[in-house]
Amino acid sequence: MSRLTVVLSQAPGKHPAKRALEESLVAALLLEPGLEVSVVPNLYDLGPDHTGRLFLESVRGDLVVLSWLYPRAAFWLLDRDGIQGHAGETKLKPPADEEDADDTPTEDRPPAIGPAGAIPDRHVYCLDLRDFNKAEPYVGEVRRIAAECRDRRDAKARERAANSPAVVQLGLGFMSPEPTPGFDAAALLAPAGRRWYPVIDYGRCTNCLECLDFCLFGVYGVDSLERILVENQDQCKKGCPACSRVCPQQAIIFPEYKSAAIAGADTGAVGGLKIDLSKLFGGDVADALAMAVQERDRELVNDGREAVGAAVGLPKRQAGKPAGPKDELDKLVDDLDALGL
Ligand code: SF4
Ligand code: SF4
Repeated sequence: MSRLTVVLSQAPGKHPAKRALEESLVAALLLEPGLEVSVVPNLYDLGPDHTGRLFLESVRGDLVVLSWLYPRAAFWLLDRDGIQGHAGETKLKPPADEEDADDTPTEDRPPAIGPAGAIPDRHVYCLDLRDFNKAEPYVGEVRRIAAECRDRRDAKARERAANSPAVVQLGLGFMSPEPTPGFDAAALLAPAGRRWYPVIDYGRCTNCLECLDFCLFGVYGVDSLERILVENQDQCKKGCPACSRVCPQQAIIFPEYKSAAIAGADTGAVGGLKIDLSKLFGGDVADALAMAVQERDRELVNDGREAVGAAVGLPKRQAGKPAGPKDELDKLVDDLDALGL
């Protein structure tokens, strides 16, 4: 029988309450049948050579990741690292989530470019360890997910067997994911240095490339299909979230930023000016763009370069549109220009 891979991503630092939850959760999961449980350091910090990252890349079947990150942040972080799959839906929702739920109808969002390449036929479930302070809800949810994955595999096996009599003779074992190669538990947990970089939610990104224009530190690039990507993660300036304020789709996540919206909370609308910026960024559109400009200037000056203010790389959302009344954001950019910010 194939086993479901469950990976716990530790909190950075040594927060005693977080460590206690991690330990009790791992202890409980190890008692569950049919699970392959591993622990890695903070997912966000794993560089390309870290054993924990190599292990995650080696998993072929369904995957559950428990981390101290918002699920949207964890999912797209994994996607960026090539650990792709269909988003598994968790039923584990803290009561407060219902109030904060994103009530923007999906059809109101502009079409997103979606993840790159063919998505492997498996599901990736991301659970947030900040939702509950005890192990039981997570153990129950992992149990439910394991059953869901099993049912899905069985249904596919039956379908394939029905369509291919030869497969019946071979048995249904072909549906089992490839076994995960052995990884040393201590190597999985080797310390990882802290990192800071943006993560793109391709379920929202429209490839407008405004972030590419805005960032003056060479973090963004495009792939061979001209799709935006975070090309040089570690060139991002520690603590700087500036480009996330400029993205019209709220698709840029800094998983460890203090504001929930920028850290990937699944809240608020998307679609340019429909974003409730007062809720998401602590101010209005003007505040968000002015803050982005200031944050970028601060990093430029720290680098020994000249501040550029609003003169470079601010959104051109009206570009290509026929002349007509300016929208609120267009006017704002003009106002910022006039202020010389
Ligand atoms: S600004 Fe946002 S929507 Fe536009 S390309 Fe960048 S991440 Fe995508
Ligand atoms: S946060 Fe600042 S340095 Fe980092 S990618 Fe965005 S604009 Fe560039």
